[in-house]
Amino acid sequence: MKNFALLNARTLDEAVSSLGTDWNEAAVMSGGTDLIGSMKRYIQTPEKVVNLKTVSGLEEIRSENENIVIGAETKIAHVASDSKVSEHLTALSMAAGNVASPQIRNMGTISGNICQRPRCWYYRDTEVPCMKKGGIRCYAVAGVNTYHAIYGGGPCHIVHPSDTAVALSAFDTTLTIVDKYGTKDVPFSEFFVLPEEDASRENILKPFQVISKITVKAPGDNVKSTFIKVQEREAWDFAVASVALSMKMEGTACREASVILGAAAPIPWRSEAAENELTGKNITETVAVAAGRAAVADSTPMTDNKYKVELFTNIVKRAVTELV
Ligand SMILES: Cc1cc2nc3c(=O)[nH]c(=O)nc-3n(C[C@H](O)[C@H](O)[C@H](O)COP(=O)(O)OP(=O)(O)OC[C@H]3O[C@@H](n4cnc5c(N)ncnc54)[C@H](O)[C@@H]3O)c2cc1C
Repeated sequence: MKNFALLNARTLDEAVSSLGTDWNEAAVMSGGTDLIGSMKRYIQTPEKVVNLKTVSGLEEIRSENENIVIGAETKIAHVASDSKVSEHLTALSMAAGNVASPQIRNMGTISGNICQRPRCWYYRDTEVPCMKKGGIRCYAVAGVNTYHAIYGGGPCHIVHPSDTAVALSAFDTTLTIVDKYGTKDVPFSEFFVLPEEDASRENILKPFQVISKITVKAPGDNVKSTFIKVQEREAWDFAVASVALSMKMEGTACREASVILGAAAPIPWRSEAAENELTGKNITETVAVAAGRAAVADSTPMTDNKYKVELFTNIVKRAVTELV
């Protein structure tokens, strides 16, 4: 691991004023469960690490008007066990409870989870000069692409690894981003970027910016949500396919739906086709099957990941039938 300076920031101001304009200058650290691993493998090599855990006031979950506010440094375990989150944002509670192992959920934070870097084995291999590390090629195209994207169009074919990002995408979520110039609120739907826009990063954050909090509008009582994750190992593992579903119901009729696929694309992937199959319909098994089929209708699987098409078809159907 390359030597680095450590700054235990006491305030957000101190944290952001010590960040630079280059990713190699400084990196923000929350729980460190992803960052430190990346640094040990020389995938991220910052000169300075700015620790946000020492900033007070960033670890909390509170109700504010009709919103639930989650501080950036809130542990994933806390998100999973909070009663406000499980009551109003069930899919998020379920997703957080499914992240990794208890140890990682007790170290890792919600902001670190949504900003974690991809798990693509070509990206994580220091020797492979892939597109994400500034190279010109995505090695998954001609290589082994078992866990890669079926949506997103390349040219880099990672899937986003975060479970909580999938669930947060199913709600009306806003991120608060802070830098030395001020604070801005960004809709979660505008946070992640596809590789065609920037293959080297997964979101819009600049090296000098940090997330301070996540605000989720609490949906009404007639909105239900769920999260289903398929993983190879039951003990703990990243998703090979997941879905977050939220539906606004009126009796058995669905008035609004959000269908977000995880481990399908380089960003949490909204399936408008599946949402259209659900919205305005009485939810029956036939409608659930149609939503599952629609979710994968225009997917473009690669040589080794065609199995994901059937997986997504089934978990979308299962999520719909379980919710009603
Ligand atoms: C064995 C293992 C299994 C795992 N399984 C899963 C899984 O099943 N599902 C899943 O979702 N994840 C999984 N993970 C990933 C794990 O959840 C993440 O490592 C963790 O959530 C990262 O949180 P952290 O607070 O430790 O982030 P850090 O390691 O501190 O940071 C991660 C990244 O986010 C950036 N960052 C952190 N905080 C901020 C902030 N406030 N503002 C801006 N940028 C920030 C950092 O600079 C860094 O690039 C697994 C990890 C391991 C090691």
